Amino acid sequence: MTQINTAALQKLDSAHYLHPFTDHTDLAKKGARIITKAQGVHIWDSNDNQILDGMSGLWCVNMGYGQQSLVDAATKQMQTLPFYNSFFNTSVEPAIELATLLSEITPPQFNHVFYSSSGSESNDTILRMVRRYWDMQGEKQRKTIISRKNAYHGSTVAGASLGGMTGMHEQGDLPIPGIVHIEQPYLREAVKDKPELKDLSEDEFGIVAAGWLEEKILEIGKDKVAAFIGEPVQGAGGVIIPPKTYWPEIQRICDKYGILLISDEVICGFGRLGTWFGCETMGTKPDFMTFAKGVTSGYIPLGGAMVSQRVVDVIYKDGDFNHGYTYSGHPVACAVALANIKLMQKLDIVNTVKNDTAPYLKKMFEALNDHPLVADAQTLGMVGGLVLVKDKDKNIGFDDDDNVGMICRGHCFDNGLVMRAVGDRMIIAPPLTMAHDNIDELLSKARKALDATL
Ligand code: PLP
Repeated sequence: MTQINTAALQKLDSAHYLHPFTDHTDLAKKGARIITKAQGVHIWDSNDNQILDGMSGLWCVNMGYGQQSLVDAATKQMQTLPFYNSFFNTSVEPAIELATLLSEITPPQFNHVFYSSSGSESNDTILRMVRRYWDMQGEKQRKTIISRKNAYHGSTVAGASLGGMTGMHEQGDLPIPGIVHIEQPYLREAVKDKPELKDLSEDEFGIVAAGWLEEKILEIGKDKVAAFIGEPVQGAGGVIIPPKTYWPEIQRICDKYGILLISDEVICGFGRLGTWFGCETMGTKPDFMTFAKGVTSGYIPLGGAMVSQRVVDVIYKDGDFNHGYTYSGHPVACAVALANIKLMQKLDIVNTVKNDTAPYLKKMFEALNDHPLVADAQTLGMVGGLVLVKDKDKNIGFDDDDNVGMICRGHCFDNGLVMRAVGDRMIIAPPLTMAHDNIDELLSKARKALDATL
């Protein structure tokens, strides 16, 4: 095996590579961790350290690394037809076959897909479709899309505007007009501004938090609101698992005002919550579902939007919708997605997650609640999050300056585990293919990292 010169690579990396969401001063000082290979649920760095991937890459590698059927599908398609577009009355076989399969596995209101190459592009697509829908319905004034603070819907101008990350809005003069945000359904955070909520049960809080949507609709004017967008579980915001009552109440409010509901399934889709799609866990019936990541297990970029029949009937009434990406329906990406979904079906992975892997993860992860640094460790399906606290008995949290999440994340790496830090929250989204012994490994490494953070 050729020896990898880590220091030389780090120097080049720092000199030439602008990384997404990375502190480049820190990067120049410490050098990037260079990942060189992966197999199953583990990755290796250039110093040959084996690391358990508790984040599935970036919430993507649902079926784990080294799946030969995905590699074979890509190879075969690259040899047969590496690219052709789907513009101007042309189509390609893998895109047609995948559209058909997606129509089968998604909830019944969905019979059509629009392809992109990422979650961000998918949400951009929806923004245009929603406005086009209301325009075609003769309600052009219905333009406003309501989202939530701390939501993540991507990094393009529309994606970052739909998202509710202040750090992103501050850079680039966002959000664009016509997008507003309500508070997220996160009780621990909400009581900081609204102490009167502190005695509510989770279920009561869910109804209150959904009610903020209704308040916002009435404030804007009910004939001006076009849609509501949300992740079933807010992922990048820190794995905020909403109360059970939240989403059904959101659906009721959307129905009451005739507002379109968009479920951003970029993380929660493709089995992550123990159902094929997150909206099935939450009990909603969205008009749009955006997806990416898990559709190909991240082996190749592909994204898309499932569009409900009632929306398709309106938007395409006059024929065309002037929108598309060069790589919409890319044959290689679609071939890999087909192989990935067929593998999921063959292994019955969604039921395995629901009935076995996720309950085991829940039991093991929630046992961290006994750790002196941990408040509120929770999972849903194959995502989990916990809060780090300074004084558990007095319920006193860390300050931002304490940087506790980043410190804990460093200890995770040192112990051979990828866990992500979001402020004072530590989060996981492991591959769905994790076996019980992988989960044991994850939890024992997480505990060591927590001990080191104390
Ligand atoms: N939506 C959600 C819920 C996401 O988590 C992400 C990415 O993490 C996106 C959209 C954007 O996807 P992409 O990075 O593929 O553009």
